Amino acid sequence: MSRFWSDHVVGLAPYTPGEQPKVANLLKLNTNEHPYGPSPKALEAIQAATGDSLRLYPDNDSTALREAIAALHGVTAGQVFPGNGSDEVLAHIFNGLFRHAGRPLLMPDITYSFYRTYCQLYDIPVAPIPLGDDFSIRVSDYTDAHPVTPAGIIFANPNAPTGMALELADIKAIAQANPDIPVVVDEAYVDFGAHSAVALLDECSNIVVVHTLSKSRSLAGLRVGFAMASQEIVDGLQRVKDSFNSYPLDRIAQAGATAALQDTAYFQRTCTEIIQAREALTQQLGTLGFEVLPSRANFVFARHPEHDGAALSRALRAQGILVRHFSLPRIDQFLRITVGTPQDCTRLCNTLSEILLKTH
Ligand code: PMP
Repeated sequence: MSRFWSDHVVGLAPYTPGEQPKVANLLKLNTNEHPYGPSPKALEAIQAATGDSLRLYPDNDSTALREAIAALHGVTAGQVFPGNGSDEVLAHIFNGLFRHAGRPLLMPDITYSFYRTYCQLYDIPVAPIPLGDDFSIRVSDYTDAHPVTPAGIIFANPNAPTGMALELADIKAIAQANPDIPVVVDEAYVDFGAHSAVALLDECSNIVVVHTLSKSRSLAGLRVGFAMASQEIVDGLQRVKDSFNSYPLDRIAQAGATAALQDTAYFQRTCTEIIQAREALTQQLGTLGFEVLPSRANFVFARHPEHDGAALSRALRAQGILVRHFSLPRIDQFLRITVGTPQDCTRLCNTLSEILLKTH
């Protein structure tokens, strides 16, 4: 608290990202980064962008990047809205689409926790909708009539931190039952086995799809994400962006992201490896007695019936392995574990096995 702060700063509850350790040799399975490096072509493009041209401002419209995204997803460049990580894109979405005179935003009670932070920042009331007992999003909760017209709907698909995904028919039903409000589908993890709602954009002009290059493209350090939506919605987001920061993506980020998105072979190979490792990890954890939710992301969400989630997380930390634990209602017994290389997964399971034996 400081007398220099604006009043609303006091009431903010900033998002706490997973630990980025300052010491080496820790196995990081806590922030859903990709275990393999970025596409070599992306690295080449990044190096080529590092030179005298950095004295010049970047293209404020990220034209080449938008065109690459448009070609990849079968939309027009005018339907693409890139930003400095999908967190920034989401922030502009909350600011530009969800601020409607106190109308609430519908979202699952368990989902990406940054959504609540943005709601506080932009003064948007939250109407949390509980996930079902099996941690799935219950579609009827979103398609049934709402007592007050919501400002919008947002959920992650696959959801975070559960990893569970909705099918496109369900997303379409949600969008069509709410044609006059934006339905934002955060697809940060979609490339690991779910289906993208970008296929619904022609039919459902209220859908906004958000992607990131931080996960399946292994570029968390470059900070690039983007939304795809109708031109009408993108124009609104553009207005917000140009009232905030005209140059969210620097020259290096634009060049690296464009090249990464064009390297389909590398992308497909590395995603396939993660999916295979996830299935193997799910099985190994099951053998150790964990209940593992069915994941279509690059992480699994697992709990052990006889071992406390927080205690397991601490014990793993002591052995040099970071996983994510949330001290939140309903999920405080779970660990969210990023899928690493097969070797990473083996190290994790061997360590867990020792911990379970010792603490029994
Ligand atoms: N959405 C979800 C569901 C996420 O888990 C994350 C990563 N924490 C993000 C968005 C933000 O990703 P980034 O800002 O790195 O693009």
